Formats: sequence, C-alpha cells, structure tokens
Amino acid sequence: MSDCIFCRIAAGEIPAKKLYEDEHVLAFHDINPVAPVHFLVIPKLHVPSMAELGPEHVEVMGRVMTTAARLARENGCGEGYRTIINTGRVGRQEVYHLHVHILGGPEVLPAMLKR
Ligand code: 5GP
Ligand code: ZN
Repeated sequence: MSDCIFCRIAAGEIPAKKLYEDEHVLAFHDINPVAPVHFLVIPKLHVPSMAELGPEHVEVMGRVMTTAARLARENGCGEGYRTIINTGRVGRQEVYHLHVHILGGPEVLPAMLKR
C-alpha cells in the first residue's frame, strides 16, 4: 500500500469527491477549500513535485492542464480562476504528489501574495 495520500485517493483506498477521472488524470475537490471553487488535478502517476518533471511527463502534464482548464469552465470559473502549483519547502508544498490547484468562484480572488 502506498503511503502517498493522493496515490491512495487515485487507487480508491481513501474517499474523495471526484470531479473527473480517466486512465491518466484525476480531479477532486480540496478537503479544505479556500475559495468557493477549489479542486485539485493530479496525474495518476506518482510524481513528487513539479521539480521532478522531465521530458517523459510532457504528455501527462498536457492532460493535467487541459483537464484543469475544461473542469474550470464547467464548474463556475467561466470568468477566470487562479492556478497554483506549490513546490517544495519554499513553495510550502504539503502533499508530495504533484497537484494543480484551481481556485475560483463568483468574486474576484484576493491578491496573489502579500507584499
Ligand atoms: P499543497 O500545499 O501541497 O499544494 O496542498 C495540498 C492540498 O491538499 C491542501 O489544499 C489540502 O487541503 C489538500 N488535501 C490534503 N489532504 C487531502 C485529502 O485527504 N483529501 C483531499 N480532497 N484534499 C486533501
Ligand atoms: Zn503519489
């Protein structure tokens, strides 16, 4: 059994509110949303973070990003949204399975970073 929480969600061992799933990509609602729309899109393949991406991931990351764009359109983000990938210690990554956050809703989001 994997000790990666997102691999376990992808394997169906831990429940999640899934938005979309295919052979390569999974999207599910964040358990602790910080915006009216807040979901995560992951490759099913375990890649710890964006820092580990290489040429072998071009196809799956294309799938992740185009899925994120379509799901954003379909889930109330037609006027825009924020896409976040936290990476490593400096990026305050908490779960070390690469994931794309999509954040949105009817209102304009707060500023990206505090100065
Ligand atoms: P990170 O800081 O790594 O970019 O964000 C990890 C995100 O995963 C957080 O927003 C957190 O709320 C979410 N998360 C952590 N554990 C779970 C879980 O078991 N289920 C779901 N749906 N989201 C989770
Ligand atoms: Zn994983």
